[in-house]
Amino acid sequence: MTVTQSPGALTDEEVRDQVVAWLRENLPADWVKAIDEGDEEAFRMARAGVDYNDWCRRLGEAGWATPTWPQEYGGAGLDPSQAKIVNDELNKYRVHRSFNVIGIGMGGPTLLQWGTDEQRRQWLPPMNQHREIWCQLFSEPGAGSDVAGLATRAVRDGDEWIVNGQKVWTTLAHIARWGMLVARTDPDLPKHKGMTYFIVDMHSPGVEVRPLKQITGDAEFNEVFFADVRIPDANRVGDVGAGWSVATETLMNERVALSGAGSTGGANVGGGPVDDLVAAAKSSGAWDDLVLRDRLVQAVIEGRLVKISNFRAAAARRGGKRAGPEGSITKLFQAEYNQRLQNLAVDLLGASGMAWAGADDQAGAGATVRGFLRSRANTIEGGTSEVMRNILGERVLGLPKEPSVDKDIPWKDVKRNA
Ligand SMILES: Cc1cc2nc3c(=O)[nH]c(=O)nc-3n(C[C@H](O)[C@H](O)[C@H](O)COP(=O)(O)OP(=O)(O)OC[C@H]3O[C@@H](n4cnc5c(N)ncnc54)[C@H](O)[C@@H]3O)c2cc1C
Repeated sequence: MTVTQSPGALTDEEVRDQVVAWLRENLPADWVKAIDEGDEEAFRMARAGVDYNDWCRRLGEAGWATPTWPQEYGGAGLDPSQAKIVNDELNKYRVHRSFNVIGIGMGGPTLLQWGTDEQRRQWLPPMNQHREIWCQLFSEPGAGSDVAGLATRAVRDGDEWIVNGQKVWTTLAHIARWGMLVARTDPDLPKHKGMTYFIVDMHSPGVEVRPLKQITGDAEFNEVFFADVRIPDANRVGDVGAGWSVATETLMNERVALSGAGSTGGANVGGGPVDDLVAAAKSSGAWDDLVLRDRLVQAVIEGRLVKISNFRAAAARRGGKRAGPEGSITKLFQAEYNQRLQNLAVDLLGASGMAWAGADDQAGAGATVRGFLRSRANTIEGGTSEVMRNILGERVLGLPKEPSVDKDIPWKDVKRNA
């Protein structure tokens, strides 16, 4: 732990000094020099030499990966406004962050809200140190937008639960050690009431993970099958039957995580900020095309809007508010904005967006086209844009709720595909 005094006793300047001192001591000297001198080429070379896993572990151990988490669970114990100072400095030094966002961004806040002290001590430190990767086992073939209709069953057997069923679209399940699982524990109750939330060890006997290949050629998500998988009751989060309330915490944090909150400069194109796109258009001559220029300016404006909206949401959290339905605003806008941006990036490439080779794959046309293809998922993952609009209509604007014919009848009597 780096924070050397009780967090509440530190001034903002002391927090900044501590994180900067830590970064300058822990980053390679050539990395720090490249940042100080604004030398992009030297920065790329310094970055390439760093062991990603080792770096993420050290950032977590120091508490900087999760600055608001209490110190006893591996965080820095800072309030949200001082955590922003930490994140600003990490962004300034352009450090790697863990890709374990399903854990850190969704599982962590859920355990902090609903977990026991023992559960938090067991799972939070290895999570924020990037030593144990997490996945989210909510969606099923017959339950995506209507996740409360899920059918995976958990049946109690003494101190354990026996789980059978199937999940789908489970990002990172192939490398995850732990999964947040929502399962049906009482089919006689209406759908929202008969579910329970568990943490499942993905290495347990009976868990089978099958990768799904995406349009990008990558396989970042999976099908997950459970055949008589045993979960200790000690891994239950919240009361039996309270799964929907616990899952709602995870989902609200998912929207915040997917809204671009905390990103340094809005969406990225081929790994670089939007402003790089403008610079590239100026040097290629695309800037002289009035229509393309108009779209570029619009993209820059929308990028700023995303950033400002996220600042506003972060300020509300600094004021002590938990993630709420307003996360749907930025989730919805960020998803549609990123698709417009990636379409534009491919249009700007012209014919060179159709074929590329060698070095152009990593940082040039290949990366841009991969970003374009990947962005198709943005309006689906973490809740579709249609569902976000429903949430905004009902819970932010106070419009009448959608009719729901199956809300009050036992789940087992709800009609579904066989
Ligand atoms: C890249 C990616 C990663 C994902 N990772 C995970 C993960 O790690 N864990 C996990 O649990 N899930 C994950 N998902 C699943 C994701 O949450 C679901 O795909 C999403 O909630 C939509 O569910 P569905 O695919 O079953 O579509 P459906 O719910 O079947 O929807 C089909 C269509 O109907 C529309 N629709 C449905 N209900 C309504 C309504 N009430 N009003 C208006 N329109 C409606 C939808 O908008 C959509 O257009 C991931 C998805 C993607 C694309």
